[in-house]
Amino acid sequence: VYDVIFRFDPAASVRRQPPADAAEAWRRLEEGNATFARLPTDARSGSHVVYVAPEDLGVCPAGGTPTQQPFAAVLGCSDARVPIELIFDRSCNELFVVRVAGNILGLEQLGSIDYALEHLGRHLKLLVVLGHSQCGAVSAAVDAFLKPGDYLGLVSSHPLRALVNSLFPPVRGAAVLLAGVWGDDIVKRPGYRAALIETAVTINAALKATILQQGFPDPSADRRVVFGVYDLRSRRVRVPRPFPDGGEDDTRLVEAPPGREEFRQFGVQVAGSPLVRRLLEG
Ligand SMILES: [Zn+2]
Repeated sequence: VYDVIFRFDPAASVRRQPPADAAEAWRRLEEGNATFARLPTDARSGSHVVYVAPEDLGVCPAGGTPTQQPFAAVLGCSDARVPIELIFDRSCNELFVVRVAGNILGLEQLGSIDYALEHLGRHLKLLVVLGHSQCGAVSAAVDAFLKPGDYLGLVSSHPLRALVNSLFPPVRGAAVLLAGVWGDDIVKRPGYRAALIETAVTINAALKATILQQGFPDPSADRRVVFGVYDLRSRRVRVPRPFPDGGEDDTRLVEAPPGREEFRQFGVQVAGSPLVRRLLEG
């Protein structure tokens, strides 16, 4: 038995030290995910404790209500297999989370992040976009892209159609990148659909991060925008592209590509990554 314990002691106040800067906030999320990914395999039995401050559960010794103090805002997918706080090993009141299928970025999601920056800006050091492998929303967009006839199945549901429509740009971009790296015949390979889904998931997360980067510029450069893809199999947040130190399957978040050329280069790396190669070999 392996216990993951959220420990709450009303007699012992837990005062977390907020990250000093964006780099420390970034590191805390990466280290938290590395801890989470190791949990059940560290030992046959044991426990992992996440300390919860009484104030964060609304137990305030002097009365009143807790104050929001998240150090990062995360745009993630609604997928029930991707619980944001758990996979970053964070406690209550550490993350401002916006979850929506496909981690799309409509007006309401932008408004939520705008609110966080406006009202919690002093604490917020990091904006994070988190996609995940085998995303159902991205898969639906890929299937409608590959078989336009299937799109007719969405015509009776305007909300679902709107969701899929908003995911076509990263899907189309992923298809162009894959054809550019592997040739037009790639569409005939048995693993093409899976490769297109995972490439589109990564491109979608990167695109949303770039939109946030450009939509909420930070003249003081105190805040950073990063993204990653949560892999359901390894439980690691990763970015499938080559790194100087190797280990594309290691836990990591990376910074949003700042411009068109950087984005193109990033996309080519993802399309040519070992992950895509493995999927194409199917
Ligand atoms: Zn999803």
